[in-house]
Amino acid sequence: MVSNITLSYFFRVNLRRLILFLALLSALVIQFNTFYASYSVQRQLLIDNTLASNRAYASKLADSIDQFLQSTQQQLAYSASLLTAKFGDAELLMAEAERLRLQTNSFNSVVFVDANGKVVATSPDTLSILGKKLDSPGANEALNVRRPVISAPYISVAGNLLVFISHPVTDSAGRYLGYIGGTVYLKQKSILNKLLGEHYYHDGSYLYVVDQSRRLLYHPDASRVGEEVGPNLVIDAVLRGETGDMRINNSQGIDLLAGYAIVPMTHWGVVAQRPTQATLAPISGLMSSMLLNTLPLAILTLLFIWWFANMIASPLRELADSAQEMDHPATAERIQKVHSWYFESSEIKRAMLIGFKLLHYKINKLLLDVQTDPLTGLHNRRGLDLALDLMQSTRRNFAVVSLDIDNFKSVNDTYGHDAGDEVLQSLAKIMQNVSRDEDVVCRIGGEEFLILLPSVGSKVAEEVAERLRRQVEQTRFGPVGQLTISLGVAQWSQDLGDVEAVLKVADNMLYKAKRNGRNRVVVAESSDCV
Ligand code: GH3
Ligand code: MG
Ligand code: MG
Repeated sequence: MVSNITLSYFFRVNLRRLILFLALLSALVIQFNTFYASYSVQRQLLIDNTLASNRAYASKLADSIDQFLQSTQQQLAYSASLLTAKFGDAELLMAEAERLRLQTNSFNSVVFVDANGKVVATSPDTLSILGKKLDSPGANEALNVRRPVISAPYISVAGNLLVFISHPVTDSAGRYLGYIGGTVYLKQKSILNKLLGEHYYHDGSYLYVVDQSRRLLYHPDASRVGEEVGPNLVIDAVLRGETGDMRINNSQGIDLLAGYAIVPMTHWGVVAQRPTQATLAPISGLMSSMLLNTLPLAILTLLFIWWFANMIASPLRELADSAQEMDHPATAERIQKVHSWYFESSEIKRAMLIGFKLLHYKINKLLLDVQTDPLTGLHNRRGLDLALDLMQSTRRNFAVVSLDIDNFKSVNDTYGHDAGDEVLQSLAKIMQNVSRDEDVVCRIGGEEFLILLPSVGSKVAEEVAERLRRQVEQTRFGPVGQLTISLGVAQWSQDLGDVEAVLKVADNMLYKAKRNGRNRVVVAESSDCV
C-alpha cells in the first residue's frame, strides 16, 4: 500500500515533469538524428573514399604492369637489334641470353629460337632444351605471328604457369631469323609477382589480376593463381575494358568495395578491393569520439533544461498548491508571494487573487449573517461566542456589561409587540453610540443585551454602563416614552480561567440591580468572581 502511494506520487504527472519529458524527448530525438545523419555521411564518405582510392590504385597498378611489359618488349627489341648480324654466333647468343636474364631481371628464363623453331641459346642453360624444337603455345604463337607477342598464360613443359614475351629477330634485309623470348612465371617468384606483391597492404585490401579468359594471373593467395574466376560483375566490367569502381558481393558472399582498371597492352584486368566491413571499422571509433565531444554540452543543455523547466513550472506549481487551500485565510499572502514572472502565470495569479477576495467576501458575509441579530444588527449569541474565543486565544483582559430593560413586558402589553421591537432597535443604537469601535455589542436574548469591552477594567466598564443607563433614562422612546435599564458589570483577567464564568457573574450583578430597585449599575466585587 505504502509503496503504491509512493509510486503514484513519484509518477504523478505535473507540469515540471511534462516539460522535462518533452525537452528530454526532443533533445534525444535531435541527438539521435544528428548521430544518424553524421553516421550516414561518415559511412558514405568512407565508402566513396575507398572506392575512389581503389580505383586509383587499380589504375596505377595497371599502368605499372603496362610499363613493365613495354620495358620487357623494349629489352627484347634491343637485343634483337644487336643480334641482326650475329644470330649464327651461338656463343654470343648464349652470352646475350644470360645478360638479358640476369642484367634486366625481368625474365625467369630467356630463349633464342631460330626461324625453324629450334632453340639456339638459353639462360639458364639448365633448361636442357638447347637444339630442341620448342612446342609450347607461346613459342608456337611467336613463330607463327613473327611480331612482338605477349602470350596468354599457359603451363610450360616444365610445369610452370607463365606468360611468354617474345620479339622477332630479322637481318638487315628484313628477313626473319627467329625470335627472342622471355618467360615470366606467375606462381613462383618473378618480377611481376614482386611488382604486384609489393603493393599488397594489410588492412584487408588486396589486389588481383585476371586475363581475358578470367584466369587469375596474380592473387595474394598464390594457390589460386591460374584458377578461372566464376561470374563476377567487376571482372565482367574490367574485361569490357572499363575503368571504374563498384560495390559487390564476391563469390564467398563478402561485401567488397572494388576499383578496377585494364592493362592496355594485354587487356588484363587489375582489381583492387577491400571488404566494406574493414572500411567501416573506424566508424564506431569516430562515432564514440563524436559522442564524447558532444557529451559535455549535452549534459549542460540538459541541466539548463531541467533548471528552466523548474523556472516555468514553479509559479504554476505554487499557484496550484494554493488553489487547494483557497478557504485558508493565509492563502492570499501565499499567492501574493508567488514569483509569476511570465504572462500566463501572472494572469492566473491575478485571477486567483480576485477569486480569493470574492470567495472570502462571501464567506465573511455568510459568517456575518450567521453572527448578526436581524432585528438590531448587533452581534447575536454566536457572534459573542466568537468574540469570547478570540479574547481567550489572545489572552486579552476584558470587561462585560450585561443589561436588561426594566418592566419591558408591560411595554409590549401596552403598546404592542411592534412598538416593543422599535424600542429594542433604538436601544441598540444607543448602545453602539456609547461603546467604542472595538467593543462587541450583542443582543443575547429577547430584551437582554451585553457589551464586551476588550482591554478594559471594571472601573471603565462601570463608567460606560453608567453613561448608558443615563442616556437611556434621558431618551424618549417614541410612543412608549421613558424607559430604564438595569446593568451588571464584571471583569475578566487572565488568571480567572473560564471566560464563560464572567458572563454569569455579570448576569448575577444584573439581577442584583433588579433586586435593588432597577435603573442602576451593579459592579461585581472581587468576592463575586468565580
Ligand atoms: P424586569 O426585567 O424588569 O424584571 O421585567 P420585565 O417585564 O422586563 O421582565 P422580563 O425581562 O422577564 O421580560 C421579558 C419580556 O420581554 C417578555 C417579552 O414580552 C419581552 N420580549 C422578549 N423578547 C422580545 C422581542 O423580541 N420583542 C418584543 N417586542 N418583546 C420581547
Ligand atoms: Mg428580561
Ligand atoms: Mg426586562
